[in-house]
Amino acid sequence: MKILTNSPEETENIGIYFAKICVLQNGPVVVALKGDLGSGKTTFVKGFAKGLEVKEQISSPTFVIFKKYKTNKHNLYHFDAYRIEENKEMLVLGFSEIISSENSVVIIEWSENIEDLLPQKRIELTFKHISPNKRVLIISGISDKMENDLRARGSVG
Ligand code: ADP
Ligand code: MG
Repeated sequence: MKILTNSPEETENIGIYFAKICVLQNGPVVVALKGDLGSGKTTFVKGFAKGLEVKEQISSPTFVIFKKYKTNKHNLYHFDAYRIEENKEMLVLGFSEIISSENSVVIIEWSENIEDLLPQKRIELTFKHISPNKRVLIISGISDKMENDLRARGSVG
């Protein structure tokens, strides 16, 4: 499915809503984000973290590779794989354990760089530039229920 967003605020709001419905499923949640620089991935993650009631400010973990945020129910892991060249760089950070832990919610920018480390069961979002303020989010790997919930919200093509 596709969602059109017309502003950074709208992308953030979609992130908030998206997080809330993602965590309705049991077990670890893995959300893989793809798309060019400036396409809105970090903006989306800011909303996503708000949706999980993370209080801290989110910033891009480009140099540290990932940051962990604790909430009442979950551990949110925000990865940026932009600088990752070899899978082992992720494995030494404990990526396999993180994505298989029951209360993990893992969201990964530049997931295309670590494609073969990603679990089969994952949600994928590809961000595309349409115009300076418009982006399209192409979403796959979601349940029918989640798709219906997103459609019920509007702005969906
Ligand atoms: P990425 O993490 O993909 O590199 P960022 O979220 O850091 O992208 O940056 C997106 C940039 O594009 C920000 O400067 C933001 O203000 C701008 N922007 C303009 N329109 C949108 C939109 N509809 N959604 C998300 N970001 C947008
Ligand atoms: Mg980013």
